[in-house]
Amino acid sequence: MNRWLRWGLIGLVVLAAVAGAGAYAVLRVPAVQDALFERLATNALFSNRDAVLKDDALRAIVCGSSSPMPDPHRAKACIAVIAGGKIYIVDTGPQSYGNIAVWGLPIRHIGAVFLTHFHSDHIGDLGEFNMNSWALGRAAPLDVYGPPGVERVVAGFAEAYALDQGYRTLHHGADLMSPDNWKMIAHPIALTGDATPARDRTAIAFDDGTLKVTAIEVNHSPVEPAYGYRFDYKGRSIVISGDTARHPPLAKAAQDADVLFHEAQAQAMVQGLQTIADHAGNARLAHILHDIQSYHTSPVEAAGLANDAKVKLLVFYHFTPPVLNMVAEAMFTRGIAAVRPDGWLMSHDGTMIELPLGSSEIKIGSVAR
Ligand SMILES: [Zn+2]
Ligand SMILES: [Zn+2]
Repeated sequence: MNRWLRWGLIGLVVLAAVAGAGAYAVLRVPAVQDALFERLATNALFSNRDAVLKDDALRAIVCGSSSPMPDPHRAKACIAVIAGGKIYIVDTGPQSYGNIAVWGLPIRHIGAVFLTHFHSDHIGDLGEFNMNSWALGRAAPLDVYGPPGVERVVAGFAEAYALDQGYRTLHHGADLMSPDNWKMIAHPIALTGDATPARDRTAIAFDDGTLKVTAIEVNHSPVEPAYGYRFDYKGRSIVISGDTARHPPLAKAAQDADVLFHEAQAQAMVQGLQTIADHAGNARLAHILHDIQSYHTSPVEAAGLANDAKVKLLVFYHFTPPVLNMVAEAMFTRGIAAVRPDGWLMSHDGTMIELPLGSSEIKIGSVAR
């Protein structure tokens, strides 16, 4: 390196250091901090996410893509379906309300909650959804649909949050924080007909004339019953599996849907974890890892089911084990392409699917900031 080049490089390094130190010093000036705070707070408070409510599409946003296994980057099960200016939440897994809040979604326009079943990774944030949508201006009690037993879940969360509701009404006044609007109303969905070994019953859970939600019996035994849901809105459709072992009747109920959100458990990876737990002497964990293999669906099985259902797009969520990096994702998705070369994707928290009305288009995007 010649002398001039060396001095030039040293000069650049010194300039960068001085600029960095200068920027750091500027950030310590209170007036600069105040101006930055105002700018950031204005962006956060007035960023307009109301566009997701526009009645020009049926939309779904993944507000939680994780299974119960720990994942630092994903909340537990939650899909928000947006139709006709309302946000319908399918499962309220732990941390999922935090996603909704961080993304600034207009949750005061919540239409209802639909619970697939009552494992904790699907219900943990129900109290948060109810409390925060009310505090932010929800104008009516919150309807919560689910399998029989939803009454107990709703009553339990209501009791746990009742003192907080009292504080807030006292603090802000009943006009702003109406105790009546804070209430949740449980709607147990009864399937039509007697139980059969095939678990192939359905029921209309909700129908307001434009949006129809169908509960679909799935196989998450010993959880009985457990549901998936199908949303039909103005010619577009979204199906959400909930938790289930491979379940052919779900393919029938999801027939020709635009999008199928399906849970996925990479059985070979779970078996590998079981072996490792066994070798490490953790018999309890090995036992659990053995048991969970019976009531979830592998990615390849879900791909086959999506083909049988002739859905246009398959979106995987509820990943077991967690997909923490590229290598894990490559292992997780092994074999899918051989069954279904196109028309599938691995979701992240924030994945948004838009189905424009009067069209067959499927747009894939993200609301994560
Ligand atoms: Zn689950
Ligand atoms: Zn479950």
